[in-house]
Amino acid sequence: MSAAEADWQSAVDLLCSYREVVLVCHVGPDGDALGSMIGLGSALRARGTRVLASWGSEPFEVPTAYASLPALDLLVPASQVPPAPGLLVTLDTGDVDRLGSLAGRVEAAEQVLVVDHHASNTRYGTANLVDPSAAATAVLVAELVDRLGVELTAEVAAPLYTGLVTDTGSFKYAATTPSVHALAGRLLATGIRHDLISRDIWDTAPFAYVQLLGEVAARAVLERCAVGGLGLVWTRVDARDLERHGLGLADVEGVIDVLRTAREAEVAVVLKHDPVDGRIKVSARSKGAVDVGAMCTALGGGGHRFAAGFTASGSAEQALDTVRLALAAAPHLSA
Ligand code: 5GP
Ligand code: MN
Repeated sequence: MSAAEADWQSAVDLLCSYREVVLVCHVGPDGDALGSMIGLGSALRARGTRVLASWGSEPFEVPTAYASLPALDLLVPASQVPPAPGLLVTLDTGDVDRLGSLAGRVEAAEQVLVVDHHASNTRYGTANLVDPSAAATAVLVAELVDRLGVELTAEVAAPLYTGLVTDTGSFKYAATTPSVHALAGRLLATGIRHDLISRDIWDTAPFAYVQLLGEVAARAVLERCAVGGLGLVWTRVDARDLERHGLGLADVEGVIDVLRTAREAEVAVVLKHDPVDGRIKVSARSKGAVDVGAMCTALGGGGHRFAAGFTASGSAEQALDTVRLALAAAPHLSA
């Protein structure tokens, strides 16, 4: 289901009627959250709007993979976000809780525009531009930029390319349509260094990460009978692992991509112990026979059909038991 013309119109009308706009994305921002926020921020600034951008989790530090993006000067820490913004725009954020410490700004703002592509989106805005068929939130932002009549410069294109490449897994996932490639072509035509952007996202990590990856891969468990016989592979990243290697949660996002290559398992799960809030961040991926998005949404999280997550209080073992039970009951989809 794509967004209706009326939703596009309301989004453009709102963005044109405020001289100052506050942009926010989900906690622990990934390439699409940060890229679509900074891309939209750059475009709005180019047409004279005052823009602040932020997210509501600690550490307030741009992950190194995205640290070379342009226009990061739009970012302010959550504490500097006005208590009652006129127009609040949320990007890549399926529900209010995912805004973390900034969740209260949704109630306080005059108008809230939600720009997102999560199927689990709860449409919590006064206007909602939500398209679950979009490969990335950045795809929606690129169309907004066009509709606002802003020129697609390299400064706008680089963060949008970051979002596109992140959420399509470098153009590998099923959501990669001909129009995704056409958009990528337009973004490249602005002269961005896509090779450097991709290298920063996919092919650069501290040596400590390579070592940690070895440890967490070595302790992975394959449960062949789980998921009704389709198989589950899982591993854990403990807070003390992160501490020992001097790494943060953002550094271990790629663990799931290695784990899910295990042919014997339909579902891969990584349980990450957040050293800041002590909770367990669960990342789940499936290969197409199970809807992990529905599972994670039912467990209080969200995401997409084949890539989703939730956050659990309690121990990693308890979270894993919950996942095992949910997966045993999950319907098997046909190919
Ligand atoms: P990842 O496993 O890479 O952190 O996230 C995969 C997908 O699930 C992303 O779309 C992400 O936004 C979503 N997701 C991950 N964790 C949570 C969570 O705790 N709550 C919600 N609502 N979505 C999540
Ligand atoms: Mn996204």
